[in-house]
Amino acid sequence: MKKTKAPASPDSAPKTSAGTGICWLVGAGPGDLGLVTLRAKECVEQADVVIYDYLCNPAMLAWARGDAELIYAGKKSGQHTLPQGGINELLVEKTRAGKKVARLKGGDPFVFGRGAEEAQALHAAGLAWEVVPGVSSAIAGPAYAGIPVTHRDHTVQLTVFTGHEDPTKGAGVADYAALAKTPGTRVMLMGVERLPAVTEQFLTHGADPATPVALVRWATTGRQQTLTGRLDDIARRAEEFGFEAPAVAVFGSVVNLREELNWFERRPLFGKRVVVTRTRAQAGGLSSRLAALGAEVLELPTIRIEPPADMRAFAELVMDAHSYDWLIFTSPNGVQVFFDTFFKLYPDARSLGGPRIAAVGPATAQKVNEYRFAADLTPREFVTEGLIKAFEEETSLDNLKLLVVRPEKTRDVLAAALDKRGAIVDQAIGYRTVPETLENDRTGALARFRDEGADVITFASSSAVENFLALKLPRPAGMKIASMGPVTSRTLRDAGLRVDIEAPEATLDAFAAAIAADLSGAK
Ligand code: SAH
Repeated sequence: MKKTKAPASPDSAPKTSAGTGICWLVGAGPGDLGLVTLRAKECVEQADVVIYDYLCNPAMLAWARGDAELIYAGKKSGQHTLPQGGINELLVEKTRAGKKVARLKGGDPFVFGRGAEEAQALHAAGLAWEVVPGVSSAIAGPAYAGIPVTHRDHTVQLTVFTGHEDPTKGAGVADYAALAKTPGTRVMLMGVERLPAVTEQFLTHGADPATPVALVRWATTGRQQTLTGRLDDIARRAEEFGFEAPAVAVFGSVVNLREELNWFERRPLFGKRVVVTRTRAQAGGLSSRLAALGAEVLELPTIRIEPPADMRAFAELVMDAHSYDWLIFTSPNGVQVFFDTFFKLYPDARSLGGPRIAAVGPATAQKVNEYRFAADLTPREFVTEGLIKAFEEETSLDNLKLLVVRPEKTRDVLAAALDKRGAIVDQAIGYRTVPETLENDRTGALARFRDEGADVITFASSSAVENFLALKLPRPAGMKIASMGPVTSRTLRDAGLRVDIEAPEATLDAFAAAIAADLSGAK
C-alpha cells in the first residue's frame, strides 16, 4: 500500500522535540464496522493509546495492539465522563509524552464532534496531529433507514443542524426561523430529547405541519430503530415509543422514499443479536457473514491461541517435515502455526519436499490453500473415523510415516487409531487453546451479553463450548444454540444443552445460512 503521509507544509504544526508523538483524530463512522475507513483501522493498529467515545463501535478496540492503553472518554447525554477540557488535556499530555494516540470519534470528527476543538488544543500545544474523516451519521443514518438525503425529484438542498441547545435559550442555538423556511432535507443531530421544543419552533415559524419526519436510533447497527411521522406528531410519537438518543432526525419529503428503499431493515437477521464465540483472530469470518445478513454480532471470544509449552520440539518436527509420507492437519490453526514456523525455518517452499497433505474439514483445507499448497485428502467429516476411512480408500496405512499437527490437550484418538493400523505416527503439538478471561473484556461484549442477552449463540468447536461453559455466564432465556457440526453438537448435548441449529456442513457460509434460515423463520 502506498504511504499517504504528505511532506509537512510550511505552516503545519511544528513537531515536538520528542518527535514521535502524534494524535490522530479518527472518524469511527456511525456504528457499522464496515463503514470504518481503512486509514482509521491503520491508526488503531498502530496506536499506543486509544481514546474512544460512547458512539464508537467497541469492536474497533479489538484492532488495538495487546499492550495499547485504552481510555474511555465517552459521554452519554448529560452524563459526562470527562469534560471536553479534560479530554483536550489528555490528548495533549499523551501526545507530548511521545505516544501515538488514536482519538476515536463517532461519525466524522469535524461534524458536531468537537473534534475541531481537540485539533486546536493540539495545534496550540505545538504537537503533531492529523484528522481521519469518517462516515457521518447525518448521511449514513438516514441511508440505512432507506432515506437518501438528496434526490433530484425531492430536493437540491441539504442542511445539517444540531438540536443540542435548548431552542428557547438564544445563544448558540440553530436559527429555527430560517430552518423552518429552508427548502429541502434538514437533518438534526443530537437533541431527540428536545424534539417537542424543536418541532414547536419549526411550526411557529411556519413550516408545513405535514412535513414527513423520521428518527433513526443507533443507525447502521443491529439495534437500529426507525420511527416515522409528521412534523406535528413526531414528538408525541417519540414520547409514546420511548424513543431515546442517540438518534438522527430527518425532515423532508425524502423520508417517504423509505417505503421503497428500506433495504437494511429488511435483511433476514435484522434485529437479531448473535453471539460468536470463536477466538478473536478467527471470529471475523463468521461475524462478517452474519452481519451481512443483518445480525447484530457480539464477539465473545472464549478461547485464544497461544504457542505450545514446547515450541522447540514443535519446530524440530516442522524442520523434518520433508521426511514424512503424509502431513495431517486437524484444524486451520494447526495449518497456520505449521506453515508460519516452516517459513521461518526455510526461505524456500520446496524444502517441504514430497509429503502428501491431509486436511480434516473444508476450513482446514482452505487454510492449506492459503499457503499455496493443496490438500491431497480432505475427509468431509470432522471425525477420526472419517479420516481413517478416507485413508483406507486411498492407501494402506501400514508403515506410512505420518506427522499429525494438533493442539495440546485434545483427544489423541486420531494418532492412536492411525498407530493401530500400522502407521508410524509423530505428533507435532503446535499450539494451545487457552480460555479468554472476563477481565479481558476490552470491547464490552461480555457486559452487553450479560445485560442484554442474545437471540442465538454460536459454537464452532468443542473447545469453544467447554471454555464458554467455564466462564459460567448466565444463559438468557430463549437464547438458541447453534453448532458448526456433529462433534460440537455432541459436546453441547453432553453438557446437557439443546442444539437448536446445526450447520449442514462445516463451512462458515453454511453455518451462517442455517442460522438465518432458522431465525428469520422464527421472526
Ligand atoms: N460526529 C458525529 C456526530 C456527533 S454528535 C457524526 O458525524 O455522526 C452525536 C450525535 O450524532 C448523536 O446525538 C446522534 O444524533 C448522532 N449519531 C451518531 N451516531 C449515531 C447513530 N449510530 N445513530 C443515530 N444517531 C447517531
